[in-house]
Amino acid sequence: MKRIQNFINGRFVDGTGDLFENRFPATGEVQSLVSAAGEQDVDAAVSAAKRALTGPWARLTVQERIALLRKVADGINARFDEFLRAEIMDTGKPVSIASHIDIPRGAANFNVFADQIASVATEAFEMATPDGAGALNYAIRMPRGVIGVVCPWNLPLLLMTWKVAPALACGNTVVVKPSEETPATATLLGEVMNEAGIPEGVYNVVHGFGGGSTGEFLSSHPDVDAITFTGETTTGEAIMAAASRGVRPVSLELGGKNPGIVFDDADIDITIEGLGRSCFANTGQVCLGTERLYVQRGIFDEVAEKLAARARTYAYGDPFDQKTTMGPLISEEHRRKVLSYYEKAKAGGAEIFAGGGVPSIQGYEGGSWVEPTVWTGLPEDSPVVRDEIFGPCTHITPFDDEEEAIQLANNSPYGLATSIWTTNLSRGHRVAGRIDAGITWVNCWFLRDLRTAFGGSKRSGIGREGGVHSLEFYTELRNVCVKL
Ligand code: NAD
Repeated sequence: MKRIQNFINGRFVDGTGDLFENRFPATGEVQSLVSAAGEQDVDAAVSAAKRALTGPWARLTVQERIALLRKVADGINARFDEFLRAEIMDTGKPVSIASHIDIPRGAANFNVFADQIASVATEAFEMATPDGAGALNYAIRMPRGVIGVVCPWNLPLLLMTWKVAPALACGNTVVVKPSEETPATATLLGEVMNEAGIPEGVYNVVHGFGGGSTGEFLSSHPDVDAITFTGETTTGEAIMAAASRGVRPVSLELGGKNPGIVFDDADIDITIEGLGRSCFANTGQVCLGTERLYVQRGIFDEVAEKLAARARTYAYGDPFDQKTTMGPLISEEHRRKVLSYYEKAKAGGAEIFAGGGVPSIQGYEGGSWVEPTVWTGLPEDSPVVRDEIFGPCTHITPFDDEEEAIQLANNSPYGLATSIWTTNLSRGHRVAGRIDAGITWVNCWFLRDLRTAFGGSKRSGIGREGGVHSLEFYTELRNVCVKL
């Protein structure tokens, strides 16, 4: 059986931890065994990353670093089919999604941050001094050092490179802990790093679990200089606590319970197309997905029926088949969680417009499938409306006016993303300005310009990544004051 190893100091090595099983979510079958990194392996990876900070990597000019990053992007594209297969086997996501989003964006992140680092400026201030000669202050941008990168499973290559690319662009070294559910593409990237000529120790990968395992060994390692994390809010709290020892900076991209607001002047076709994606894409396993929908009363029935009809259009089955449009959830454990909310919705008396159960798919009975689901009728304090479910489901509540919609949307401990659907752009701007979320889309969803600030408000995270904001996290500005 295929074995997935750790990548430490430019070499693939077994860890001292146990082997664990990696399953294909579409069938539930074990497809590979992963060698977990123990504490001493994490230490070896961090030490390699620390040594690399003073090796050939440190002596590269920015232009040379940029050239290497572009080679990494080319290397991913050159092995596109291998990355695609590895990502699909780990996640079960349909090839139509992974080939358009995960792998191309994974490669593009290296080019985007190569462009970014090529054009970033630093500040300079001239100042007056009593002798009249003056002084000049200027900032230099220094890499932070060894970055611990702890990743989730929903967009494995894309979200990992969203952190690794800017970290390397800024001259840091990294130790990546991929999700235990999706170890393959981060490992394959090790081969691409070697082929591209990235010096040993600059990119390291350690496999394993979270608390009490590899993730915790990494986030609590004293030689990790900063930690960037994407995942659940409770895990973010544990990482932040670990980072507090040694006063290390953290960037946290956390969970959400994102609202969508549909006004009665919305273009219904555009709205349903957008909501179909925001509620069900990637089997609802998108941090930006819409799990709470607020629809103005006059068009409530129409939107609910059309969204329910959309939910019934998905084709399940072989993720490698171009016709498949809905994959399974990541694991049986996650399916148990999602189905527990489907049960809570029923028990709470929800009206089910679509789905609510498990589809039967011949040949894929062992996979972690669920039906895309649309409910209404639950109170706002129901766990179905409060908690992040991370499945292909949404609850719809009617509202009467703009003020009520804003109150409902903001009534959440999370604040990651919102979508507003209206043809009245004054209203779109007005409402966007009052939503407590890091990202608001008007008449679109997941339309991403990678130069823009990305991150959550409230319990959805700390810090912003994207464009120059990533560079702010992955570098430290140091001021030099020269008396003239
Ligand atoms: P998770 O928090 O369970 O795991 C994420 C990673 O953290 C894994 O690699 C895991 O092994 C590790 N981990 C777990 N406990 C740890 C600990 N105590 N110390 C160190 N590492 C630990 O998240 P997940 O289930 O993999 O991903 C789904 C979650 O990610 C959802 O909540 C989703 O909203 C969120 N997410 C957020 C964004 C964003 O940009 N805000 C993007 C994608 C996913």
